[in-house]
Amino acid sequence: MTFRCTSCGHETGPATLCDRCDGFVRFSCDDPSTLQAAIEGDFWAALPPVSERIELGEANTPHISLDSEVHDGIAIDSKLESLNPTCSFKDRGSALTVSMAADPETTFEAVVVASTGNTATSVAAYAASADVPCAIVMPEGTSMAKLSQAYAHGASVFTVDGTFSDCFSLAQQVSNNRIINGTAVYSANPFVASANRTIAFEILCDYGDIPDWISVPVGAGPLLGGTYAGFTELYDHGIIESTPKMLCVQSHGCHPVVEAFEHNRVVRAWDEPITTDVGAIADPLRGYPEDGEHTRQSVLESDGHAVALSDSVVHRWTEQLARTDGIYAEPASAASVAGVVESNAVKPGETAVALITGHGLKEPSEAEPTVTAGATVDGLRTELLG
Ligand SMILES: *Cc1c(COP(=O)(O)O)cnc(C)c1O
Ligand SMILES: [Zn+2]
Repeated sequence: MTFRCTSCGHETGPATLCDRCDGFVRFSCDDPSTLQAAIEGDFWAALPPVSERIELGEANTPHISLDSEVHDGIAIDSKLESLNPTCSFKDRGSALTVSMAADPETTFEAVVVASTGNTATSVAAYAASADVPCAIVMPEGTSMAKLSQAYAHGASVFTVDGTFSDCFSLAQQVSNNRIINGTAVYSANPFVASANRTIAFEILCDYGDIPDWISVPVGAGPLLGGTYAGFTELYDHGIIESTPKMLCVQSHGCHPVVEAFEHNRVVRAWDEPITTDVGAIADPLRGYPEDGEHTRQSVLESDGHAVALSDSVVHRWTEQLARTDGIYAEPASAASVAGVVESNAVKPGETAVALITGHGLKEPSEAEPTVTAGATVDGLRTELLG
């Protein structure tokens, strides 16, 4: 098992960036038997060893086929990452990050996290379980549901009058060899993308094969890049014969990765105002555009595609998923399903797995439910049976 620079290949140990070229560091298995254990369901086998695993029941999330009639005949399966312990996929990375901080063999003893919500909640829960001090920096205006969840776990919560990028820059300045930056971006935290590889292993474990496409809602993209890295690792060891195409889905009101993909140029930070309310994927990458570029490279390498959606399309699919499939997803997560249908990249007859990254209870719809006052027996029967 090795921590290696993704740019120059140098073996680094558990560092944040490569000490030779500043490339991103990622962990991979050299021994095919550990990969074999991972694709048989023991996902920790593919992660760096720790003295004690801080676990809350993360990973091994279910797959649900979506109603194909409403998806233009494309067979879409969803992977319900929303059913992780704190209701988002971020738990995969947090379990590993906090295990590292809790390990007496490392120099780390506390965690700081910049987050639009889900990472904060997730790291706070694992930190509580491991009794590791945890401070969270969120943009002002973050969903109260997410803030309360993080606060309930006893984390110290700070807000910043700025974007996620401002929070990130603060967390980077605070982090040192005793404080680990648990933020879910490649350049700060080599553990998140490595932990997200396990999604690839589970998909192979569950299907015995790989789908044509994996659709992923993208902020900076360690979820997309990590999942793709898991597939390439399986490919490099001769376990699968091809890798899936990665579909990168962003919101039109902040889509630096998609914009660069469309213009076939390097990812730049998003300088325009952020005009989307799909917060979990609104990352302007200010100060760390190379994170987005790393994601774009994964999309290109996979022969994939990138698409930006309007908020109204995302909200329509959020509602659709709840009403036709019984899946209550947060809007950022419904974007993965919407992307498959709206992008025109996935052809009928192809298979796609859309990652439902977070639970709808995190960001409940603000629409007033329609309620009929004065319930009666007859009224209820007529409503149900006509
Ligand atoms: C964090 C998050 C994403 C984006 O993941 P990245 O790895 O930052 O690109 C997507 N959906 C939800 C619900 C998230 O919390
Ligand atoms: Zn390097």
